[in-house]
Amino acid sequence: MALVLKRTDMKELAQIYDRISMCTQCGNCKYGYEYGPTENFAAMLCPQGDKYQFEAYRGSKGKAALAKGLLSGMIQWSDKAAHVIYTCIGCGACVEMCETDIKDYLLRMFEALKSETWKQNVAIPEGVRKWSSTIRENRNPYLEKHENRLDWLPASIRETLPKKAEYIYFVGCTASYRQKNIALATVKLLQKLKVDFTVVPDEWCCASPLLRTGQYDVAKEFIEHNKELPEKYGASAFITTCAGCYRTLSIDYQKDPPEGYTDKFGKANFKVIHTIQLVEDMIKKGEIEFEGSFNNVVTYHDPCHLGRHAKVYDSPRNVLQAIPGLKLVEMYRSKKFSFCCGAGGGVRGGYPDYSIETAIKRVREAESTGASVITCVCPFCWRNLSDAISALKSSMKMMDITEILEPIVKKK
Ligand code: SF4
Ligand code: SF4
Repeated sequence: MALVLKRTDMKELAQIYDRISMCTQCGNCKYGYEYGPTENFAAMLCPQGDKYQFEAYRGSKGKAALAKGLLSGMIQWSDKAAHVIYTCIGCGACVEMCETDIKDYLLRMFEALKSETWKQNVAIPEGVRKWSSTIRENRNPYLEKHENRLDWLPASIRETLPKKAEYIYFVGCTASYRQKNIALATVKLLQKLKVDFTVVPDEWCCASPLLRTGQYDVAKEFIEHNKELPEKYGASAFITTCAGCYRTLSIDYQKDPPEGYTDKFGKANFKVIHTIQLVEDMIKKGEIEFEGSFNNVVTYHDPCHLGRHAKVYDSPRNVLQAIPGLKLVEMYRSKKFSFCCGAGGGVRGGYPDYSIETAIKRVREAESTGASVITCVCPFCWRNLSDAISALKSSMKMMDITEILEPIVKKK
């Protein structure tokens, strides 16, 4: 029987109805596996399904069925539907398993579902509502004042930064207000590598939390503001140490907004580089010298927004393998089959217990490798995994790769 669209108030979902309809309900996305002459991998990859153990929560299958049901009127909006929608972290693990043409629209579908909840009288998680109500005023989701955004930067360093430069270091909200250790390590690293960069006081949130929770209208204002910064400061590129900022600046800013969305974000005329890509490039060119070693066994956590979303898997590993003394060991679930830290998609703010429970699963997996250090290149992953390490009273240490590099490198 053909599905009849009865609801006309769900513009975001209706625009991708044809794609959503391509879901065959095969269920491939509920579990991760790869078999072949050289592969023999099988593991649960969906943190949401792992936690809630019910069909609607596992992988994209349930969400595609929910989207069709809501559009047809066969399923009514409810707090329960909102819970299914908001506990999806948007990690993209299910996307890797899908082999139909809905594949490229799955992340968009999760966000479109979240977008529709804002128009319905349903329970959006309180933590998400809270930061969303002040982000226009504060320009960050941490309820902090915008004028304190550069408080992490010591005056002694700030005075040495040029007014205009080739790169703008886009710090991001988490490193600016919470993981200041990563912001500081990045600035010191870039200075040691003699990179021509500056930090700007009028950086606003990159809009990742807004986009990932379906708040396109508010996000547009942030994107339009930030994309003017390179020209204002004579820069040709943003450099960032945050996986979420990298995904947003390099993918969301560079393309049109969700297909069919009438208000265009506009194309951006600048490059976006993750710090780890810059370091990898300098190592390849022989421009970096190591002054010391890092004698530890280290395991690398792939941030979803850098790995599955932006396909950057090798750069961090290439850099880690170049560090004297460092031994890199992989977790069973890695690269495209990585397991999320549990922080994204509005989940850390919206469902803190579920978020930390997911991070604890990841830390246990890291412990099983025998490594003493978990490393990543995302302040938001750093934060959630670090909280899980504390909750577990684990002996593991959380370090961003910039924190490992900064004390032991210099430019040749
Ligand atoms: S995006 Fe991640 S959390 Fe959401 S359904 Fe897919 S695997 Fe599960
Ligand atoms: S989203 Fe893809 S993998 Fe999942 S049930 Fe639908 S067609 Fe199958």
